[in-house]
Amino acid sequence: MSARVDIAVIGSGAAGIAAGVCAARSGCSTLILDSRAAPGGIGGFSGITTLCGLYDDAGKFLNDGFTHEFAQAVAESLPVKMGKVFVLPYRPKNFRSLAEKFISNTSHLGAQWKTPLADVVFDGGRITRLNGFEVGAVIDCSGAAEVAKAIGAETLATDETTQASAVVFTLCNVRRPIATAADMAHVLLRLARAGFAPLNLQASLEPDTFTAKFAGRAAQVPELITFLRANVRGFEECLTSLDDMTTAHRAGRMIVGQYVLTGQDVMTGRKFPDAVARCAWPIEQWNAAGVVSFQFLPPGIHYQIPARSLRAAHVANLFMAGKTISAEVDAIASARVMGCCLATGAAAGILAADYVKSSPLR
Ligand SMILES: Cc1cc2nc3c(=O)[nH]c(=O)nc-3n(C[C@H](O)[C@H](O)[C@H](O)COP(=O)(O)OP(=O)(O)OC[C@H]3O[C@@H](n4cnc5c(N)ncnc54)[C@H](O)[C@@H]3O)c2cc1C
Repeated sequence: MSARVDIAVIGSGAAGIAAGVCAARSGCSTLILDSRAAPGGIGGFSGITTLCGLYDDAGKFLNDGFTHEFAQAVAESLPVKMGKVFVLPYRPKNFRSLAEKFISNTSHLGAQWKTPLADVVFDGGRITRLNGFEVGAVIDCSGAAEVAKAIGAETLATDETTQASAVVFTLCNVRRPIATAADMAHVLLRLARAGFAPLNLQASLEPDTFTAKFAGRAAQVPELITFLRANVRGFEECLTSLDDMTTAHRAGRMIVGQYVLTGQDVMTGRKFPDAVARCAWPIEQWNAAGVVSFQFLPPGIHYQIPARSLRAAHVANLFMAGKTISAEVDAIASARVMGCCLATGAAAGILAADYVKSSPLR
């Protein structure tokens, strides 16, 4: 007879960590599977250093429960205001160690690393087995709807023309502040005149250090650094470790759920009777040239995400969180930030646990 788990969570980024911990805390035996060697996903491994989507436009937490708990545990400072939004700076190594700590300290929760999703059995409208385990419910937190893909369930794709990838790396020894749009414009203008793709710089918790998101190719980064050192004041001694460079993909694949969250829901701050998460992050689009544009919600407004956007339309025991929730391209361009992934992950964990506990098959 094969082993059984109540809930299998595929992926251990922001969404998967929250989903696994919350499902297990609800009393269900839960197993996280990830093809990587350790938990963290994009938030832990791509060099990103700001948690977005945690706050409203006054800097107040939007979601309590695990989202708040994780943010408080990773925080080393108060949130920082960047233009119209608040973000929380963090260190990726702390994000990873916190993820490991939450997983190992939670009863009923296990994990298997270097374990890609495999051998998914779909029978009678439900997923009955995967990776050799009998399962009661599955939460797809893979960022790319891997579970849905494996069983041929309907998906929606984002597109690289509005969600372009970026090369993320750390830039150290920058001897000038880049706190305002004018500071940033000065650097960008120099780069643009020299023919480089856009570069986005965000201050990190380390002194004189920035997280760089470059819209060009990874192979162009050494040339970019040489140019900055020779031509831009304050960057004369800037350094990066090419080993830490990652190409991170904003675009993913979403699963069609019982409700598809729309861009209009986001922009009008729509509320739902079955709401399970809140978000106020703008619709953030990165075009193919790597230029970002923001559509901000009206002041003081947030939108809600309904439980139906976390439940697959035609697979009774499939739930989803993070980048894979049921959402239009414009809506996921807001809801994909990590604060929101934590919130949908936590909600999906609780919804899946409720489903399993009420299932006659348990
Ligand atoms: C360039 C870039 C910059 C960004 N900047 C920010 C920012 O500053 N702040 C912010 O809040 N957000 C930012 N984001 C968005 C945010 O980081 C992601 O949308 C979010 O982290 C996604 O979380 P997730 O848990 O849904 O998925 P992921 O973090 O992608 O986790 C998915 C996990 O699933 C695993 N997996 C995938 N396929 C399989 C499989 N077949 N079997 C087993 N495991 C599998 C992966 O290994 C991974 O660990 C940025 C994104 C990009 C690309």
